[in-house]
Amino acid sequence: MAREVIAKSGQYRGVSPNMADYETERASFTWDEARRSLDGLPAGRGLNIAHEAVVRHARGPRANHVALRCLSRHGDHEDVTYAALDERSNRVANVLDGLGVRAGERVFALMPRAANLYAVALGTLKHRAVLSPLFTAFGPEPIRQRLDAGGGVALVTTPSLYRHKVASIRDQLPGLRHVLLAGEPDAAVNEWPEDTEDLTSLLEAASRDYEIGPTTPEDMALLHFTSGTTGTPKGAIHVHDAVVSHYATGRLALDLHPDDVYWCTADPGWVTGTSYGIISPLVHGVTTIVDESDFNAQHWYQTLEREAVTVWYTAPTALRMLMQAGAAMAQEYDLGRLRFIASVGEPLNPEVVVWGRDVLGLAIHDNWWQTETGGIMVANYVSMDIRPGSMGRPMPGVEATVLAHDAQGEIEIGDDGAAIEAAVDQEGELALRPGWPSMFRGYLNNPARYEACFAGGWYLSGDLARRDADGYFWFVGRGDDVIKSAGHLIGPFEVESALMEHPAVAEAGVIGVPDPLLGEVVKAFVSLNPGFNPSEDLRLELLGSARQQLGAAVAPRDIAFNQNLPHTRSGKIMRRLLRARELGLPEGDTSTLESPT
Ligand code: ATP
Ligand code: MG
Repeated sequence: MAREVIAKSGQYRGVSPNMADYETERASFTWDEARRSLDGLPAGRGLNIAHEAVVRHARGPRANHVALRCLSRHGDHEDVTYAALDERSNRVANVLDGLGVRAGERVFALMPRAANLYAVALGTLKHRAVLSPLFTAFGPEPIRQRLDAGGGVALVTTPSLYRHKVASIRDQLPGLRHVLLAGEPDAAVNEWPEDTEDLTSLLEAASRDYEIGPTTPEDMALLHFTSGTTGTPKGAIHVHDAVVSHYATGRLALDLHPDDVYWCTADPGWVTGTSYGIISPLVHGVTTIVDESDFNAQHWYQTLEREAVTVWYTAPTALRMLMQAGAAMAQEYDLGRLRFIASVGEPLNPEVVVWGRDVLGLAIHDNWWQTETGGIMVANYVSMDIRPGSMGRPMPGVEATVLAHDAQGEIEIGDDGAAIEAAVDQEGELALRPGWPSMFRGYLNNPARYEACFAGGWYLSGDLARRDADGYFWFVGRGDDVIKSAGHLIGPFEVESALMEHPAVAEAGVIGVPDPLLGEVVKAFVSLNPGFNPSEDLRLELLGSARQQLGAAVAPRDIAFNQNLPHTRSGKIMRRLLRARELGLPEGDTSTLESPT
């Protein structure tokens, strides 16, 4: 699809970008130098994420700068300075110490987006225990599975979440030694649940001082479960050295400046919400918005305006929902402070990038990464032209490529043992040269699966992409979602984006359906914008316009209307579920499905 390029000029709003020129930065960047920009623990005692995120600010001129502005569901807010966050997280570390939780043991957090969650996350890291955050909307079974798989020794949650989600599974978790409840006792029961401890009073009694013990950069810090879009979620292991990536990507890909008010809308139960909702912004000493509420278009615009957000990191599904709410709503708000918008998690349709420019006054900067990569790998930067529909170019310090597949669909390895790179504009597997600091160090309890992620000197992402002559990467689809029809490989993203160009279409999910003649044919499920109703005429019109744009070989054979496309709780379309339902196959792991139907 030929599209205009969105020139970088006009995006800065008076702030000089941290990266003035992509090529120059790429030529000079080294991870060692990025590491030197961090503090390190005193007396050469190593590198600890929590020290970089909070301690060094609390002991310097930013001590009284607001680290967190926490917006409660009820409309009030609480500001927490770096000094206060340091003290609160020290108390958490002391409580864990007092309970006998040891370095390397797993502490799970099942907590609403509020100051306590940040204190628990940072206190756990200070204590050198491993943090595993869980999304509060999970039901009991996904919680049990993760606590069990991750060998959780402590769980921090609230009395109400405990009663609804954990009490019933508690006796199936013999390794869980401590359950700490933060907040008021559940009014409905009015008594403190058995076998749990009151975190609030333990914190009050704990010392406000804590000295972080020696931490090597390779010590395990975080255990993150993937989104479960393509199957059972995998537990990815991350280490303290990841903070070097969080620092560098915050600087170069999100363009964080010390006076920014920054909002990452992802829940810390997902890797984006931890890497870029907790660690990266705090390392940069900015003020972070922590919003307890769930998505609501009006509320989000209000938050951007009232809090004078300058840098906003969000996701395609949310942006598509804002589009669906209409341009008139956006125009009611003054978003004049906003100077950079980034998006991650799913392919960002060109339509949405251009909508950002036309309606919000800022194009959306897509970037790509995974739970496994721990941080942003490919991005559109403030100082680089945007090609709508492209994920951008690799982070300085990251070597990315597209690898060719052989006839069996395996990575092609040359005689020298190295993988063969695909030609310009050829589709293949998006791969990264191992060695960036936030690379995962393993899948929990599954070394074979980890090994299988590497071939011919590369980490294989499992996603298909192509690279154009100027080094921009274009997402084609997840390996598992790609459709093979009459000898063509069709990426669902291309078809979905073409459908979204029609004013009636709010969102589309595209799958392959087996066909005796062609192998597979393309089928699309679309949800409609307000003001449009499903009809045979509209169906034919959509089929016709897709065929015109994509050609008969790639266009959908069939389109069905579906106002409830299945999404993961982190907002991704679950194409495997659309496919399973269409074909009457088992649905597989649905633990991360949003509002199961
Ligand atoms: P699972 O691995 O359990 O199936 P998941 O891959 O969705 O789930 P995450 O690690 O949360 O779990 O998501 C990473 C994936 O999301 C990427 O591999 C890619 O498929 C998709 N993704 C992320 N960012 C982008 C982007 N900018 N464009 C296209 N796809 C993206
Ligand atoms: Mg994945």
